[in-house]
This record gives sequence, structure tokens and C-alpha cells, in this order.
Amino acid sequence: MAERILNIKINDKNYKVKEGTTILSACKQAGITIPTLCYLEDVAKDAYCSICVVEVKGAKSLVRSCIAVITEGMEITTDTDAIYETRKMNLELILANHPLDCMTCEKAGDCELQDLAYRFGIKRSRFLKEEDVFSPPSETSWDSNPFIRMERSKCILCKRCTEACANQAVLEAIAISGRGIKAQVSTPFNRPLEETNCQFCAVCVQACPTGALVEKTRIAKGRITDFKVTNTICAYCGVGCNLELYTDKNNDIVMAKGLYGNDVNKGRTCVKGRFGHEYTNSKERLTSPLIKENGKFRKASWEEAIKYTAKKIKEVKDKYGADSIGVLGSSRCPNEDNYVVQKFARAAIGTNNVDNCARLCHSSTVVGLGMAFGAGAATNSIDDMKDSDVMFVIGSNMSETHPVMAQNLKAQRKKNRAKLIVCDPRCVSLAKEADIYIPHNPGTDVALLNGIMNQIIEQGLENKEFIKDHTVDYEEIKKTLKGYDLETVSKITGVDKNLIKKAAEFYGKAKSAMIFYTMGITQHTTGVDNVVSVANMALITGNIGKPGAGIMALRGQANVQGSCDMGALPNVYTGYQKVDDPIAQEKFEKAWGVKLPNKVGLAVTEFADKAIKGELKAVYAMGENPLMTEADVKHVRAGFGKLDFFATQEIFLSETGEMADVVFPASSTYEKDGTFVNTERRVQWLRPARNKPDGTKHDWQIVCEIATAMGYKMEYESTSVITDEIASLTPSYAGILHRRLLQSSLQWPCLDDKHPGTKILHTNGNFKRPDGKGKFHAISYKPAKELPDKNYPFILTTGRILYHYHSGNETRRVKVLNDFVPRNYVEISVDDSAKLGIKDKEMVKVSTRRGSIELEAKISERPKNGVVFMSFHFSEANANVLTNGVFDPISKIPEYKVAACKIELVKK
Ligand code: SF4
Repeated sequence: MAERILNIKINDKNYKVKEGTTILSACKQAGITIPTLCYLEDVAKDAYCSICVVEVKGAKSLVRSCIAVITEGMEITTDTDAIYETRKMNLELILANHPLDCMTCEKAGDCELQDLAYRFGIKRSRFLKEEDVFSPPSETSWDSNPFIRMERSKCILCKRCTEACANQAVLEAIAISGRGIKAQVSTPFNRPLEETNCQFCAVCVQACPTGALVEKTRIAKGRITDFKVTNTICAYCGVGCNLELYTDKNNDIVMAKGLYGNDVNKGRTCVKGRFGHEYTNSKERLTSPLIKENGKFRKASWEEAIKYTAKKIKEVKDKYGADSIGVLGSSRCPNEDNYVVQKFARAAIGTNNVDNCARLCHSSTVVGLGMAFGAGAATNSIDDMKDSDVMFVIGSNMSETHPVMAQNLKAQRKKNRAKLIVCDPRCVSLAKEADIYIPHNPGTDVALLNGIMNQIIEQGLENKEFIKDHTVDYEEIKKTLKGYDLETVSKITGVDKNLIKKAAEFYGKAKSAMIFYTMGITQHTTGVDNVVSVANMALITGNIGKPGAGIMALRGQANVQGSCDMGALPNVYTGYQKVDDPIAQEKFEKAWGVKLPNKVGLAVTEFADKAIKGELKAVYAMGENPLMTEADVKHVRAGFGKLDFFATQEIFLSETGEMADVVFPASSTYEKDGTFVNTERRVQWLRPARNKPDGTKHDWQIVCEIATAMGYKMEYESTSVITDEIASLTPSYAGILHRRLLQSSLQWPCLDDKHPGTKILHTNGNFKRPDGKGKFHAISYKPAKELPDKNYPFILTTGRILYHYHSGNETRRVKVLNDFVPRNYVEISVDDSAKLGIKDKEMVKVSTRRGSIELEAKISERPKNGVVFMSFHFSEANANVLTNGVFDPISKIPEYKVAACKIELVKK
């Protein structure tokens, strides 16, 4: 239905606005500013403060513009003496109970109440202060947490914080309790905040218009006006939240806010985005190149370290050939760094042995979605969720791994009431909100998905027209699916038959269903099979190529998508142009002025074995920590120990750096410019929020200097020159130019400098495969490589937790995060812990066939019986001592999600 346009007058001028517009919004569109206090666009709309009142012709009293909706012919006046006096009086009523300690208040200069008082010339309220109205009650629900401070005397009960918690974080950890003069912002039963479901994302703090809520970490760090503000992208996960970072005069980042007005996070952050920047200021930053001599590091000049490294790599190349050298890019580094590092491997060294840590998280996605659709990337956009009527989440604890995505999902669901199906062996927090929760056994995803698809067919819910017009090989998969009846699937997965049936009904009947998955799907020896099965499910129902549908593969690190797009992979150049395609090879040879190798190189998960066999002799690693993050890390250590030469560039001396012969000090994300690509293929420009420490260089600069010292000249004036070189060589990035990125982000494919970018892939059933069709793959269930037995009776599964990140190099140097979760723990189910006689917080030894670690037990209702979970962020209890290094035969991703283990109580 066409939108109705209404004719109105504001201050005697004619305007046209869409039906449903509020007066406040209409005035904004007309360029007229109405003061507000409790209103916060898209977050809080509860009329309370009455600062925004206006006159409406015919109305008996002044009208609150934030809630009053425009009607045809409405005549509005925004600026009369009566309006001014009413606004002023309402403001004075609020100020009657507000301390006037602006001189010492943390938020002075950043306080909307202070700003309004200044604009209305209010020095003190003419109304009497009601003693103790807002004085702090005896409870201390806000005091003990390390993240957020509440000063009740400054709270004006505007409800912006509670609305932000309800509508942005979608947690409802805080609410207004009490009535009348006893009303206050509080937690359920006044419990300490850390005992509620609060995740300390601090959207409440950001929404607070006064000094009532502040981040404890910013206290006494300075006034807002003292800080430099930089808009950039979060350094952590693949959601790619847009942040405002605040840097003080000492070059320290002291505060972060989520940026409003973008399609990614709309003002939200998670606890890491908000508080996880302190590591950049750490005294432990590397600031000088290090060369190891007689087993010990000594400081070296840049010139010496560059020359030494170039000489050593050349020596290895001359003696053993270019393919005896491996190079690692990094999903933590921008596109430009990764582009340069793969060019270094291919053009300066002459090998395709280049890879990055995307191998460990989403290599199965790149392969699997590529096989099915012809493009190994998320098909839709984050914002698209608004059009989904079913959200199918499998193998993703996104509330902890991609928290802002989970917030977004929950917020959209609140609006469109989409049904939620969650499949996960652990009852993760999203599972508690699901319409259907499917607790399948770890490693049984193919059986589960085949079972659901079989049910879709049995219930007649497959999209016959879409299958006929836009897919190939349906008959083959149909035959395979017949073997996955409810009985069989229930036996393999441990899931109630009715749940499988119901999930098929929900997904099959949806108009637009979106699938979300993370490493729960990808990190298996059947990782590619799992991803392809997910793709089969989208194809069978035609849930692809349209709004609200498709597959959202949630990328782990900030630039997993980009590091793969840049060809920091052993088989492709930028934009997935194959190294063994003669046309692509010729193009890159011409551009780089050198003969290039056409043999597909080694994956990082093959490096250790090849080193042990003596076939790999040197490794150069940019910003990676494989000796902490790879599966079966003892084996990896043994392999790297055999290398003739090993060099790294990083920001702290990591577990990997300690093993190196040379370490170069690099700049951190918040000191860089360049591009990150988020989980929805969105290329976003980073801006440096602080100067890099003296003695460090940017990653691409270090690599270029080594290449040049080796005799292959790589010189760039700036990062933006690299950005534009990437565009010139990469069809899907052809329109992604530096000058455009300064204006706005762009989603690839973006085919020329006028192209707007692509929100949804494979529209109208046009897939990127050569035949233009989506391809079904008949996949049979294969069990994980190591299953429980009498000696190792439990399944160990690993993953990320909310407060830490990957090898912990950054978050463990953020005091507030590390104090909050200082050590690793293993989650054991209530039943299993009772059987083992283990109590909460007791020390246990967890062992697999590869090793043992000791850590605290956490008795939890989350894991299934027989399954235990631990994170991999803690070097002193590194889960990867235990994980199984066996990998998927195609994507070469290790099986982090299933290993057989045993658990013993550590005797005191
Ligand atoms: Fe950063 Fe991811 Fe958190 Fe967003 S959700 S603030 S990108 S860690």
C-alpha cells in the first residue's frame, strides 16, 4: 500500500510528511531543533520530561512532540514564550532534585541536563528540593561490579537507560522499581548487577543524559572536551561495530561509545567493544625489534632486523626452494596488511604457502558456501533480519561470540515476532529464548540437518518451483535424505523426534528464514559437510537470494572475511581468483612484474607436520599466535621448533613470538588506517585513534621493507594506495576505492566506482557458480574422529567466552576484563559433576590423548550430560593442549569441537 503523505504547517510554513511521523521527527526533517531529554532516537521514546512540548492549533494544552503523531492539516508552533516558559519550568522541576556539582561531575561537558540548563539560563531551580527523594538507598546493586557506576542523586528517572537495556541490549537487566518518590533504576530484587543477566555492554551508560551512570574505567581520566574523538571499527569480532574512541592528551584511549546512525550496530557495543581498548596503552607493548642470540632476545635496530630477516629468508629459499617457506597473514589485520603479506609470499618469496587464522574458524565456510552457491560469504545483510519470520541458529553462542549480533537479532525479533530455533549441545543463553531448542550431540550436525530436510520433504514443504528453476542435483540429495528418518536421526543426535519435526515445520513454512551459524558448525572434520548441509537447507526451501533469508556465517575475528578476500590463502589471489588459473596468474604477474607460482600452497594446519618432516624450513608470521590457537598445540610447538628460521611481527611478545628468531614490533588496530570487512561483506574504513608507540611500524610497512631488502621492491606511500591497488586487481572490489570508503562503507561485490555495493547475494536465483544454479550436495553423516570411550568418557568442546578474546593477548591486558574473568574453567553438567564427585570451583585435571591441563570446575546447567566445555583464551590452562589436530580433508580446519576427554579431581 502506498504511504500516505500528510500536509502540515510548522511555524506557518507548509511541509509534507509521511503518515505515522511524530511531531518531533517532522520538525527534525524541517530543520527545526526541539530540545529533548528523555527521548533517544530508536532507543527510548517514553514521554516523561516534557521538555519537547510544542503548540498544536486546536489542542487544549501543549503537546509532547516526541509521542504526538502528525495528522492531516496539523498546524504546529515550536517557539513561543509559553512554550519556552513551560520547557524551562519542566527543566527546573527535574533540577530540583539534581545536585549542582557540575564542577566535579564526571560527565560535565557531556551532560545533556547541564547543556539544557545552560541554554535555558537556569542557575538554580525555583522549586524546593525534596530531601532524600533520590538519595541512595541502602542496597548496593550497582556498587560491586567493576564496569559501571551509578550515582542515584544524579538520576532523573528519564528511563533512557532501562529503555536502552530493553531495546538495544534486549536484556532487561535493569528497570524502574518502586513508585512515586521511591522510584529508582534497579536490578531484579536489587541483586548486584553481576548476578543478573547484565552483560556490561553499557548501552545504559551511553544512553544516560546525566552523570548518573558512567563507566568506572573513565573516572578521573578527564573531561569529554579534553579528548580527541575518532570514528573507527571495533578490533574484536566480525560484527564490525562502528565505535567512537576517545583519546586523552597522553595518547591513551580512555573511553568508547557505539556509533549511532549505521546499519551495523546502531549505537550498540558489547563489553569488549566498550571496555576492551586498554591493551593499546599497555606498558608491555613491543617497541623495538628483537633478535634472538644464544636463546635470548636482544634489542636490534630496524635496519639490522630487516636486513637479517631478509638474508635468512633468502638463504632458506636459495638452499631449499621457495616452497620451503610459509607465510601467515592475519584476520586481526586490515585488508591492506593482508594484501601486502600475500604479495610478499607470492612475488617476493615465490610461494603460495600463505594462509591466515581464518583457516581455524571459517575455511569450511569459504569452501562449503563456494561449492553450493559459488561465493563463500554470508549471503545477506545484518539489517535484513527485520524481514525474517524464522531465525535458525545452529552452532552459534552468538550472545558471547558476536554479542551485538545477538542484541540485533533479539531486537528485530521483538519487532517482527520471528520464530527462533536454536540448535546447540549447550543450552546457551539464546537457547533459553528460543521457540524450539534442539540440544544435539556434538558433531552430529549433518544428521540433524538431513533429518530436518527429510521432514521438510515429507511434510511437502520443499519449494518445488525454486528447486526446478534454480538448482541442480536435487534428485541425488533426495535419495540420501530418505535414510534420515526421525528414528535414525533421533538416535544419532540424541534429539526428541518431535523437535526435529517441529523445526522442519517452522523452517519449511517460513516466508523468509535466515540461518545463522558460527564455529559450532565449521570446526569439525566434517566442517565442509556441515556448511554444505546448511546450504542444502536454504536451497530446498528457496530461502536464499531474498530479504530476510539466506545464510549468515558469523565471522570470528574482525577481518576474517577480508583476510580471505585478500588472498591470504594458499589457493587464491584477491577476490578468490585461483592461483592455478592461467588468466589470473598472468594478470597478477603483469601487475606485480614477476613470475608467480601456480601450485596451490600449504594451509597453516599443515605447517607443523611439514616442518617435522623437514619440508618446511622457515615461517614468517604477521600478527598470528599459532602456538596458542592451533589444535594439539604441543605438536605445533614441536614442528615450529624444527624450523631453521622463524620471524613474527606483533604488538606483544606472544607465546609464538617467544619461539621466534626475530620479532618486529607492530602497530595495533586502533593505531591503523585501512579496511576491515565484517561478516556481511561490508568493507569499512578504520581510522587511527591514537599514535602508534615510538619504535613500532605498521604491519604492511614491515613486510614491504623485508620484501625490498630481499630485492623485490614493495613501496607504498600510504595505506590508501594499497586500497586502490586492491580495487584495480579484484573485480568484486573494483568500486571499493579509498575516496568512497571515507564517505561510507560498501558491501562487495561492488563492480565499479558508481556501483552501490550488494546487500543480498544470489538474488532472483542467479548463483555465482558457472552454471548460475545453486548446487545440492548429497551428504551422509560421518561421526567425529574421536568419540568417548571407557578411558576418555566425555566430549570436550571449546569456544569463546564473552569477556575474552582468542589467545587473550589483548583482553587479558585489559584490567577490568581480566579481573572479572581471571582464569579458565571447565563447564561440567550438574549430573556429571555429581557422578564425578566434583563441586563448583574445585580444581580438576582434564586430559585427552594429547595432554592434560588443570583448571577450575564450573558446575553448570548449560552443557548436555557427557559434554564439557572450556574456552581457549588462557595460556596457563590452554584448551589447545587438549584439542584434536585432525582436520577436515577439504578445508583443513581442525576438529576443535569434539575431543574425547577424562576429568579427575585434583587432590589438595
Ligand atoms: Fe566489537 Fe564484536 Fe562486540 Fe561489536 S559485537 S563491539 S564488533 S566485539
